[in-house]
Amino acid sequence: MNAGRVVIVGASVGGIRVADGLRQAGHTGPIALVDPDPDAPYDRPPLSKQILSGAWSPDRASLGDPAQWQAERHIAAAAGLDPVDRVLRLETGGELHYDRLVLACGATPRALPGMPRRGVYTLRTLADSLELRARLDRMADAGAGHLVVAGGGFVGAEVASTARSRGIGVTMVEAQPAPLSGLLGEEVAAELALLHTDNGVRLLCGTSVTSLTGEPDVTGVELSDGTTLSADAVVAGVGVRPATDWLAGSGLALTDDGGVLCDEFCAADAERTVFAVGDVARCRDPLLDRHVRVEHWTNAVEQAAVAVRNILGPQPVAHRHELFVWSDQYGGKIALTGRPEPGAEVTVVRADGPRRRFAVAYHRGPVLCAALTVNWPKALMAARRSMGTPGGADDTVAAWKSL
Ligand SMILES: Cc1cc2nc3c(=O)[nH]c(=O)nc-3n(C[C@H](O)[C@H](O)[C@H](O)COP(=O)(O)OP(=O)(O)OC[C@H]3O[C@@H](n4cnc5c(N)ncnc54)[C@H](O)[C@@H]3O)c2cc1C
Repeated sequence: MNAGRVVIVGASVGGIRVADGLRQAGHTGPIALVDPDPDAPYDRPPLSKQILSGAWSPDRASLGDPAQWQAERHIAAAAGLDPVDRVLRLETGGELHYDRLVLACGATPRALPGMPRRGVYTLRTLADSLELRARLDRMADAGAGHLVVAGGGFVGAEVASTARSRGIGVTMVEAQPAPLSGLLGEEVAAELALLHTDNGVRLLCGTSVTSLTGEPDVTGVELSDGTTLSADAVVAGVGVRPATDWLAGSGLALTDDGGVLCDEFCAADAERTVFAVGDVARCRDPLLDRHVRVEHWTNAVEQAAVAVRNILGPQPVAHRHELFVWSDQYGGKIALTGRPEPGAEVTVVRADGPRRRFAVAYHRGPVLCAALTVNWPKALMAARRSMGTPGGADDTVAAWKSL
């Protein structure tokens, strides 16, 4: 089986899964992987968890054998695309011709006003994680210093959790009424936020970082409500933007947020020559009947499998994403399965135990649309079994109450 020369932009989970998938499916043609990150391909979820805490050495985050794709890798950023002549231009000046192109170039963190500045960190790459870890080590060893985490999303929350486990004082600044309230709704987000305050994080909501103070080392932040906070280090966890600036003017359709517009087959052009997967892709979801961009690991894995099938197979297969995201915080596990719909009914079941443990069903009458579980793996399994089944919400809540 040979789909010609496949060039993949981005050698993280989406790109490597496409490359592995093509080989496993029998593609014998050449594959080229393009990525400026000099480290061998690695996975990102451990960067804010085991790597940041020091529990893992960096090699444990490797995506497969580091030597496996070495010969096919170009350590360079893609800098331009000509989809008519099927040429990818590299920032190093070279060009790669392709028969099929896969865009798996992910996203880059948004900066805070006033960045870059010493002591202010973003967390996207292995190098970022090791640099922040070294800083947390110094703060923990000194037994002094205060960390401000701007943004209470999953990455910000995991950084706060890791810093607290090292005894470092943390203030989290969140623009929404509670961290993740846009995703989970205010009531549930407020309950989840108690994990932070239970663990000694000072949580300031409804305000955001407008500027940084101190030069060249950061000494603090100023907030939109006029508050000033002193800080020895600041982490910007204020979201990401698809890494697609280099595609401007290429003729590929980009959405307002910079995502690559794709059909339900993860294809970005009518001929199905160019595909996009993972954080960068805004694919049409046939059931939701709209285009959706998802910044979670399982989505990149699933879309990579769909792209492989659609590169090699004659019959296109559509991607249908079931949202699933996990997060490790304060020694426990949070999981969200399904998509909490605005206006859905919410049923909360709390369990006894030494740590905060609860589950939330989002449902429309008897239909379960999503479930959030906090430190309760059995509740997650029960919810996953009932998702989308008739009477699934009642079954799930009954199962939770009997656990
Ligand atoms: C710290 C952290 C923790 C996370 N934890 C979780 C978690 O617990 N659960 C979860 O579901 N998700 C988590 N995520 C999200 C998850 O890691 C991403 O959804 C996933 O990595 C997306 O994979 P991707 O291959 O689409 O993009 P990315 O992982 O962003 O990889 C894109 C690659 O493209 C490269 N690239 C960018 N621009 C160019 C260019 N112009 N030319 C060539 N290459 C380029 C980049 O260097 C990068 O290697 C986490 C993310 C981070 C940063």
